[in-house]
Amino acid sequence: MLIPAQRTMYDFEVERIADIIRTKRYSRVSLQFPEGLRDYAAEVASQIEALTGAEVLISANPCYGACDLADESAAELGAEALFHFGHAQLLAKTRIPVHYVEVRLPHDPLPLLEEHLDRLCRRVGLITTVQHVHILEKVKNFLEARGFEVQVGEARGRARYPGQVLGCSFACAKSIASEVDCFAYIGSGDFHPLGVALATAKPVVVFDILHGQVRNMEEKKERFLRQRFAAIAKTREAKRFGVIMGEKRGQRRPVLARRIRQMLRNLGREAYLIHLTEITPENLIHFRHLDAFVNTACPRVTIEDAPRFPKPMLTPQELEIALGLRSWEAYEMDEME
Ligand code: SF4
Repeated sequence: MLIPAQRTMYDFEVERIADIIRTKRYSRVSLQFPEGLRDYAAEVASQIEALTGAEVLISANPCYGACDLADESAAELGAEALFHFGHAQLLAKTRIPVHYVEVRLPHDPLPLLEEHLDRLCRRVGLITTVQHVHILEKVKNFLEARGFEVQVGEARGRARYPGQVLGCSFACAKSIASEVDCFAYIGSGDFHPLGVALATAKPVVVFDILHGQVRNMEEKKERFLRQRFAAIAKTREAKRFGVIMGEKRGQRRPVLARRIRQMLRNLGREAYLIHLTEITPENLIHFRHLDAFVNTACPRVTIEDAPRFPKPMLTPQELEIALGLRSWEAYEMDEME
């Protein structure tokens, strides 16, 4: 049975999409959803078809960010435009027009904040993901009215909105780190606040408005660093490296990959450039002769999926530590331009 998209908490902006299709006179479009929203794809597609008469395709390849658009494959299948859900724009050039549906969430964080104001420091920076950027102004006003000094960083790095962070870009938080004593993360999940805690060295309090929970990141940060240092230590004596080059358009860093290969070779190690789209254990398992991998594609894969890989997988900065070119104290998250 289809899950009626209009009865979920998500706003898929079907009317706006239909307006765009009618105005631009598209006769065939494709929809691209991240995994977490794909349950609604069929219902959204059928609503759009009913409103516009256009043929609607659905991309089913894995998608974790706007770095990974399906515009090229959709164009090859005859689509005149792509509607990309769940992320803000990241890539400047696309083969066909790409329209973004960010799928903002309606949750009100003020009751949770009110109940846990004592968890915050006096000078606080606000951070979030694209799903909640629209409520930061309201949160700022609320906290300022209660005596807090509040900063929201301007959109920087890969962010499109003030206060927004991505799994590969914490520039917005770093820009205000010297002016705050802690950060309040409005959203859910631990990856983004963990990244901010590591990138800024400031305490981060998570106001998880989807689950009604409040937690801080200190313990998780310590555990994370222990795991990463174990992976780095295992790689110290590695002789043969695979340097991963991502094929997804917004994850390509060929200059960095080649620089890493040269660096490894200069130190007498073997290094091979390996390019692929999906960086999964299954796709790397047959490189049994390699001792470790260095990932220049999505940094989130290195951090979140590392335990699933049969060999250690490091970020470029972690490799520098393993090779003795960077100190342990100078650990940094990998970020993309
Ligand atoms: S590179 Fe990774 S973290 Fe960055 S936008 Fe793409 S999927 Fe997200």
